[in-house]
Amino acid sequence: MDLSYDEIVGKFEKYVFQTYTRQPLAIKKARGAVVTDVNGMEYIDCVAGIAVNNVGHCHPAVVDAIKRQAEQLIHVSNLYFTEQQAVLAEELAHLTETDRVFFCNSGAEAVEGALKLARKASGKKRFIAAEHAFHGRTRGALSVTHKEKYRKPFEPLAPAVFVPYNDADAIRGAINDDTAGVILEPIQGEGGVIIPSDGYLNEVREICDETGTLLIIDEVQTGFGRTGKWFAREHSGIRADIMTVAKAMGGGFPMGAMLAREDVAANFGRGDHASTFGGNALSCAAAIANIEVIKKEGLVKRSEEMGKYLVQRLKGLHKDYVKEIRGRGLMVGMELTVKCDDIVNKARERGVLLNCTSDSVLRFVPPLTIAKEQLDKAVAVLDEI
Ligand SMILES: *Cc1c(COP(=O)(O)O)cnc(C)c1O
Repeated sequence: MDLSYDEIVGKFEKYVFQTYTRQPLAIKKARGAVVTDVNGMEYIDCVAGIAVNNVGHCHPAVVDAIKRQAEQLIHVSNLYFTEQQAVLAEELAHLTETDRVFFCNSGAEAVEGALKLARKASGKKRFIAAEHAFHGRTRGALSVTHKEKYRKPFEPLAPAVFVPYNDADAIRGAINDDTAGVILEPIQGEGGVIIPSDGYLNEVREICDETGTLLIIDEVQTGFGRTGKWFAREHSGIRADIMTVAKAMGGGFPMGAMLAREDVAANFGRGDHASTFGGNALSCAAAIANIEVIKKEGLVKRSEEMGKYLVQRLKGLHKDYVKEIRGRGLMVGMELTVKCDDIVNKARERGVLLNCTSDSVLRFVPPLTIAKEQLDKAVAVLDEI
């Protein structure tokens, strides 16, 4: 099968739901931080499948684990036990400082599980979320996602209130007798790489403890080394009552999980939640290999170092168009004084893939394995543009 760009796009236009604004680029293969299109042109990838390919595209250890597992056992459902899910559950509970894991297949599904668990555990209905929050597109996750355009056509959704990010008092004021939980990203991703101010998450943690409110930390985008820690909550040293992970979990393989403290997890009994594919042998084997690579190659530390390097290089760019550069590890946002679509197009034409979020924020979430020279090239292209 070797379709041309036009043949591929023709089929998309005819047969695929038109829900995405896609770049005019059909990708054939990828390795490390480089992707190759169907015409053989190569691009330095500063998007990494939206913070997914943290270990780089097609990491040999992940590919090998998938191949070996696929030959032995792909899927049996959660009617049975598998070694892969057992091993991964233990590893994840340790890494996240939680006690129990529920496996699923995506970020939104992890958030659905978290909201259901908080409702059951609290016996209450209403959630508090942050302005500009993004937690996914299924109906529960959408009810705590802030953007009006995403929500409006699907109302009524589950009850939620939105308060400004970085305002702990607003959360205190919003908690009432019907509050099931507070859900926050430890760094807002889709909202424009918004970093919590010092002490914010600690204060929210204290408020939740004082009022007996569950704190859900959504680490779907910030997990697995992305921000220079295994999980971004570690920057403030707080623990979640419930946590969600996905994106980078499977080294590119679709995978998600919802995790919780023992006494919270205990509220989910047999039959309360389920997923046919959740934690199947193949996805768990991919995730185990992925975590091993992050450890072996020291990618958490590397994320911190390369993130600092990238921010420093971006700060050397022409300042007229730059409002602010912010980030932790290799999760970096460059907020511009102009919309960034045009820059994304021009960068792609010059062999660099960038992502634009919140209209005017260039979001850099490259593989944590990206070489200095590759980042230099991306910055040089930006400079030229
Ligand atoms: C991407 C994202 C989600 C949704 O994940 P999907 O896998 O696209 O459903 C949820 N929360 C956060 C913070 C995300 O960045």
